[in-house]
Amino acid sequence: MNNNRADASNSESNTRCVVCDTPNCTPLLKINDIPIHCNRLWSSKESAASASTGTMDLVFCNHCGHVFNRDFDPSKMDYDPDYENSLHYSPRFQEYADNLAQGLIDKFSLHNKDIVEIGCGKGDFLKSLCKLGQNTGVGFDPSFEDNRDGQSQENFSVVKDFYSDKYSSYGADLICCRHVLEHIQYPATLLNTVKKAIGDRLESIVFFEVPDGAFTLKDMGIWDLIYEHCSYFTRNSLSYTFSKNGYQVLGQESSFGGQFLGIEAKLCASTQDSDYTNFNLPKDAELNNTASKFATNYQEKVSHWKKQLADYTNASKKVALWGAGSKGVTFLNVMKAFGQIEYIVDINPHKQGRFVAGSGQQIVGPEFLKEYQPDIVLVMNPIYQKEIQASLEKMGLNAICQSV
Ligand SMILES: [Zn+2]
Repeated sequence: MNNNRADASNSESNTRCVVCDTPNCTPLLKINDIPIHCNRLWSSKESAASASTGTMDLVFCNHCGHVFNRDFDPSKMDYDPDYENSLHYSPRFQEYADNLAQGLIDKFSLHNKDIVEIGCGKGDFLKSLCKLGQNTGVGFDPSFEDNRDGQSQENFSVVKDFYSDKYSSYGADLICCRHVLEHIQYPATLLNTVKKAIGDRLESIVFFEVPDGAFTLKDMGIWDLIYEHCSYFTRNSLSYTFSKNGYQVLGQESSFGGQFLGIEAKLCASTQDSDYTNFNLPKDAELNNTASKFATNYQEKVSHWKKQLADYTNASKKVALWGAGSKGVTFLNVMKAFGQIEYIVDINPHKQGRFVAGSGQQIVGPEFLKEYQPDIVLVMNPIYQKEIQASLEKMGLNAICQSV
């Protein structure tokens, strides 16, 4: 029996966990009509409104602590160059990514080594790894664009395709993969592909990073709930999925203000080592408790913001949102019936002038705010609040900066 292939047509009352295959996952929350591709940009308000939507039917696995969307349909997904999720225009994010790259280089002595990055996006992180450690990198991503910021690098190349078994000849000392695993319906499929690529090079280090599901569940980072993310890994479910698929977990670390979760691993030398039935899954009573209250907490937070936006409108306050990433797009779509926000600011020039999937707000550059003169700027990610506040002050704006 193949435990990794839980049947997608599970009856609602008997959903099996996509990580550990335990039956009877507990329903958490259902959100209808959310954009399928919240990072796809649109050329007009009208076309943005036609963006296809899907349902998020979240369930929680009481055994391994995994959260996933049981209504996820992978056939609805495709990623092309219009898919824009680069965060590297933010100095705060760039600093984080460079520190992460340097940390991996130091920890695993990655100098003059071969590096593969699965789902390298626009290639920024891989470039850092190559530059900081004089490494040679090959990235895989269908949404990669050649030379888009006029920077080329000799020791760096990208295959514009999804990483799959056919690329298993690209062996590497480090295989990294950031913010991809949560997009894959059955995480084991990708881990098995990586396993084949590693083959007998058992010293290869594997580094994966995903959004930390605990941030969504415990810290109520609910604007991270997007259709593209079918899985929300917690520490337990992430280490479980690696262990179950033949990896030895070397370490796990939460980062980026608790929003990301990184895991370092390598392949187990023998099948005995990878006997996951002996895997010691620590109990996380707090997580189970949080999960049971999640739907209530979610509704409370949404209601709070709907009321807040209505109050601003009644007081004739102009509100702009800062951050046209997943969080901003989700917030606007959950709030769209209230329609009080016309513009969303983003420092990524590739997003400016485009429109948000579903709710249809125009994305503008920060300079636009000088003309627009908002009273309130809602900050979608508290980690950028200082950076945004400084930008507003530099432009001589007195808008109140508020984290959502
Ligand atoms: Zn599970």
